[in-house]
Amino acid sequence: MNLMLLGPPGAGKGTQAARIAADFGLLHLSSGDILRAERKGQTELGRKAQDYMDRGALVPDDLILAMMVDHINRPEAQKGFLLDGFPRTVPQAEGLDQRLVASGKRIDAVINIVVPDAEVTRRLTGRWSCPKDGRIYHEVFSPPAKIGVCDDCGTALTRRKDDEPGVVSQRLVTYHTETEPLVEYYGRRGVLRTVDGSVDADVVTASIKKACKE
Ligand code: AMP
Repeated sequence: MNLMLLGPPGAGKGTQAARIAADFGLLHLSSGDILRAERKGQTELGRKAQDYMDRGALVPDDLILAMMVDHINRPEAQKGFLLDGFPRTVPQAEGLDQRLVASGKRIDAVINIVVPDAEVTRRLTGRWSCPKDGRIYHEVFSPPAKIGVCDDCGTALTRRKDDEPGVVSQRLVTYHTETEPLVEYYGRRGVLRTVDGSVDADVVTASIKKACKE
């Protein structure tokens, strides 16, 4: 089975994708995580993507498409994959369709996780992480014992550049103009399922599992 999660930044796609991929035995392919790894490794792609990512803009379609198709075609993805954060534009979706048809594959279900803008903004701008051990905190939902400091190692917490308030609002504008048209795109193909992403994460996971079996 091949799945795709759609939804705004902060909809919980990363959390849900990890759970669903583990449960269904799929390879989790997050375009954001792959790009961040490319940046960390200071590859040519990572350097090209950097400015776009820090501004909350989309990395050009041709770079993303080549990167994701490469991952989809790897042996680890042959038993099934779950796309998270890709495609994010209609040209990316069209490019993906062409590549999938050429390799005899298809997307079985697209799960649209719906969360209102105000909730997404609250989630993202309150998110902090430890640069040393990667532990993630939230000002409201899971604060550290001492403000701004990691509970485990005492390191000062940092915020992802693209989670800063101005950048979050730009990411939402980008989502509504570039990515939301994919809801109609996949709706027309009859593979779209919609779930409410504003409720408890466990409830969202259960809804996604149910939707995948419909
Ligand atoms: P994410 O972690 O999914 O929010 O992605 C972080 C950033 O990576 C985005 O704000 C974009 O700059 C870039 N990015 C991730 N996926 C894509 C994509 N499918 N198309 C273009 N840019 C992307």
